[in-house]
Amino acid sequence: MFTAPQATDHKSLSAPDWSAIRADFPLLSQLAHQQPLAYLDNAATTQKPNAVIDSITHFYRFDNANVHRGAYQLSERATLAFETARDKIQRFLHAPSREEVIFVRGATEAINLVAQSYARPRLKPGDEILISAMEHHSNIVPWQMVCLQTGALLKVVPINDSAEINIAEYQALLNKKTKVVALTHLSNALGSITPVDQMIAMAHAREIPVLVDGAQAAPHLSLDVKQLDCDFYTFSGHKIYAPTGIGVLYGKQSYLEAMEPYQGGGDMISRVSFEHSDYNCLPYKFEAGTPNIAGVIGLGAAIDYIQAIGIDHIKQRERLLLDYATAGVSLIKGLRIIGTARDKASILSFVMDSAHPHDISTILDQQGVAIRAGHHCAMPVMTRFDVPATARASFSFYNNESDIDQFLQGLHLVNNIFSGKNG
Ligand code: PMP
Repeated sequence: MFTAPQATDHKSLSAPDWSAIRADFPLLSQLAHQQPLAYLDNAATTQKPNAVIDSITHFYRFDNANVHRGAYQLSERATLAFETARDKIQRFLHAPSREEVIFVRGATEAINLVAQSYARPRLKPGDEILISAMEHHSNIVPWQMVCLQTGALLKVVPINDSAEINIAEYQALLNKKTKVVALTHLSNALGSITPVDQMIAMAHAREIPVLVDGAQAAPHLSLDVKQLDCDFYTFSGHKIYAPTGIGVLYGKQSYLEAMEPYQGGGDMISRVSFEHSDYNCLPYKFEAGTPNIAGVIGLGAAIDYIQAIGIDHIKQRERLLLDYATAGVSLIKGLRIIGTARDKASILSFVMDSAHPHDISTILDQQGVAIRAGHHCAMPVMTRFDVPATARASFSFYNNESDIDQFLQGLHLVNNIFSGKNG
């Protein structure tokens, strides 16, 4: 019998004990440059709680075998653990069936899968793929590749100065030639939450399928693919407290059934001869080769962990941290926030008159504060706001006010250093 290590049930507490939750993440207790580590790069990747680390260790210590193959107890246990995680993810996404949950390497692979297996065989010269102006490169480049392969055209819905999608322009861009819409649910560079429910309904009125890139949304928002009615939804494990190298593609069964496999190999077939191969049923048709078994089990444990805290508690906590940080940076001279959407989550991108984002992040690093500086794999966003790069702090529920105070002190230091006050 498979016995996965259990996550601490923080949900049983009416208000979660956030310092106990932080203590579940062993990495966070270390020092960085002799200061407490303030890890504020959660949009790039998240730290892992003991429950996730233990689930992976447990798998390798007691249950490691290949899945779906061995007719022996160990392989049966590994398969049960692997498929149990699929059920957890189905419930997490509110997907109608477990066959619609495909394991991939991450959001990037999921989008490439849909681009190559759904779009490429169906698109003709002059057809259009519609994305927004605040997509991650992972939701731009795979579509550009399909455009090169098919002669289709990439169209882009503009955003306003607050980094909100222009819905009237979106409506105007949807037309007979639009064959796919692909939208971020939450922008990694700006923090804006896209009104995907409204945008999906508008695309469906024209029978256009919609892919939602949920890489940033999955850790912060409640997800219900059935209610959203999206046709494809993607996310990455490592941004939701699970390991790297594992992610999920949800697709409506009718689409997945109609699509050709993305890759060929073991597990995705039911019968092979040199003349012909029959493909396996869903979801295995899209899971060629030995999967990342430990990653899947870790992802299942991560989902148990955040559900034990409760996504509503997480949303409230992260809103509070974002508001606290936003109020704090508004007092910093010469600092401008890039991305001020009304509907926004957990990400604070900014520039400062006194220093380049790379200098900001280097000085903060010396103060024990980890933030990101650069284009955040969203170069067109930098062009839109006419900046070479931004500095970005991104928050998780395990962060606290002290992390943000340390961050704000670091920003004051940046101004002091570059105005010459610090020598
Ligand atoms: N989309 C968005 C919005 C992202 O933030 C990221 C990761 N930064 C991706 C897609 C790609 O995710 P991954 O690198 O895990 O495949």
